[in-house]
Amino acid sequence: MINIAIDGPAGAGKSTIAKAVAKELGLIYLDTGAMYRAVAYAALKNGTDVSDAKGIAALLEGLKMDIRYEDGVQLIFVNGENVTPYLRTPEMSKAASDISALPVVRYKMVEMQREFAATRDVVLDGRDIGTFVLPDANCKFYMTASPEERAKRRFEELRLKGENCSYDDVLNDIIKRDYNDSHREVAPLKQADDAVYLDTTTLTIAQVVAAVEKVVKEKIK
Ligand code: C5P
Repeated sequence: MINIAIDGPAGAGKSTIAKAVAKELGLIYLDTGAMYRAVAYAALKNGTDVSDAKGIAALLEGLKMDIRYEDGVQLIFVNGENVTPYLRTPEMSKAASDISALPVVRYKMVEMQREFAATRDVVLDGRDIGTFVLPDANCKFYMTASPEERAKRRFEELRLKGENCSYDDVLNDIIKRDYNDSHREVAPLKQADDAVYLDTTTLTIAQVVAAVEKVVKEKIK
């Protein structure tokens, strides 16, 4: 199996690059952040506090998550409901970051991700793929960019979707999420020793895709 891990902080361009690389190389793309967002969505809908470990554990017992693809686009279903359209809001980003610190949530998502990758050629993006989920992945990347550049990209993405937010709010959210994601106890965000480091601050999407593909093609002959 081919398993490519792309980790890094919010807004580094991981999903854009992972999607493009998956398309070019004929691999499946798994957005693991969307899985944490989907759990957060289920908790908010159920009225369970995202920091209530017991309540969230009970919620997870009855939670069935399905990942499907339609025309190559990943869709997430929770207990039969397609929750994909509701996942990429600032509210869900924050709730996903909080809920992802709970070990009970991480272990369930990691188990699903490992099962998924065991039987498919896949590019996964997230925070802990190379360090924890798939330590034996064929290729690992750690992608980042300055907080200001990442906030600029996220702000633009939200603006295009008609979300009403300020650049400063987006920057503050990114800084908070960076802190949360890299300071949690289980599988915090950090670069794997054997990951290729890519700072995308001044690079175009095409340049990053080319850099990633070069490494992948060298490693997977
Ligand atoms: O990548 P995305 O911004 O969609 O991720 C949302 C949140 O989910 C992150 O801020 C992080 O807290 C969490 N996450 C994680 N591990 C992953 C992917 C995402 O903890 N592998």
